[in-house]
Amino acid sequence: MSDCLFCRMVAGEIPADVVHRTDRVLAFRDINPQAPTHVLVIPAEHHRNIGALAAADPGLLGEVVAAAHAVAVAERLVTGDGNEPGYRLVTNTGPQAGQSVDHVHLHVLGGRGLGWPPG
Ligand code: AMP
Ligand code: ZN
Repeated sequence: MSDCLFCRMVAGEIPADVVHRTDRVLAFRDINPQAPTHVLVIPAEHHRNIGALAAADPGLLGEVVAAAHAVAVAERLVTGDGNEPGYRLVTNTGPQAGQSVDHVHLHVLGGRGLGWPPG
């Protein structure tokens, strides 16, 4: 979609601080980080939200989640086979949840204590 910010980042039309890329998944640092590590992980293909992605291509959803974990390992938020210190995955769907970009994305957050429930 030519008018979608994240599609334009996949296409290289808008700069992104890329930390992980495959032919189907892109991960880049959030421009307004809410934690020491704040990375967005997206499918290259446009899907509006996580439910739409799951319905259209569950395999791709799995690739996005696996990429998010790989980013967390690379950022030393967890070890490859461990769980410490930890990280959070967030995806917002719809305006009441605060979704501001209608291209599904996982937020990978870590590097500080994260309270629960989130604000
Ligand atoms: P959400 O509010 O869940 O839709 O998340 C959208 C995220 O995209 C926000 O955390 C923004 O800070 C982030 N964002 C917006 N524009 C850019 C950009 N050009 N590069 C990186 N992150 C961005
Ligand atoms: Zn898009």
